[in-house]
This record gives sequence, structure tokens and C-alpha cells, in this order.
Amino acid sequence: MDGCIFCKIAAGEIPCRKVYEDERVLAFEDIHPMAPIHVIIIPKGHVATLMDVGADRMADLQAMMAAAQEVARLKGVDQRGFRVVINCNPEGGQVVFHLHMHLLGGLKLKDALA
Ligand code: 5GP
Ligand code: ZN
Repeated sequence: MDGCIFCKIAAGEIPCRKVYEDERVLAFEDIHPMAPIHVIIIPKGHVATLMDVGADRMADLQAMMAAAQEVARLKGVDQRGFRVVINCNPEGGQVVFHLHMHLLGGLKLKDALA
């Protein structure tokens, strides 16, 4: 989608530090990490928010979860533990309106949500 920063990253028009890629998803290091491990996982196809994922795109969410497992293994936190988060819409803290999942790890995460 025109003007979407994550579409540009998926297209290779904006560089990223790639962690994992398959035909459906791309995972890359967050530019402003909030934890020692902070990876963003996106579907390559544009969809703005979690609420915009219809039955036809549920496979993207499945692929994002499978990618999270792989990223956790690659980063060595699959057994130690990590957190995955999808922010949805403004009160959910979403800033970039291309569906994405945060994978956070490398420290003991607090129970608080925000
Ligand atoms: P949101 O608040 O929308 O869930 O999170 C968006 C995330 O994308 C933020 O953590 C932000 O640091 C990250 N981000 C925004 N622009 C870029 C970028 O151009 N490159 C990378 N690697 N991360 C970005
Ligand atoms: Zn996009």
C-alpha cells in the first residue's frame, strides 16, 4: 500500500535487519527496541489492523505465529521465555497501520501490560 512503511520494508525499498523470512511473513529488528530482543513480525501483504483480518487472511496470523516460534528459537529464548503482542488501533498503542506482532524477550518481563 502506498505510503505504508512496513510495505516498503517488505518490498525491500526501506532497509531492515532481517531475522526471518518466508513466503508469507517477514521478521526484522525493531528500530527502537524496548527489550534486549525486540523483533517485529509482519505479513508481506498489507492489512491495516488485527480487526481487518478476515477469514481470507487468517493464514497470515497462523504464519506470524509460526514465525514467532522460529524467531524465538533463532534468538535462543524459546525455552527461557518471551512475549508476543499485537497492538490494535490507537488505544491499543498501534502507531504503524500495517498488521504486526512484537516479539519481546531477553529479560524478565513484568506482569503489567503497559
Ligand atoms: P506499534 O506501536 O504500531 O505496535 O509499533 C510499531 C513499531 O514499529 C515500533 O516499535 C517502532 O519502533 C517500529 N518501527 C517503526 N518504524 C520502523 C522502521 O522503519 N523500521 C523498523 N525496523 N522498525 C520500525
Ligand atoms: Zn502495509
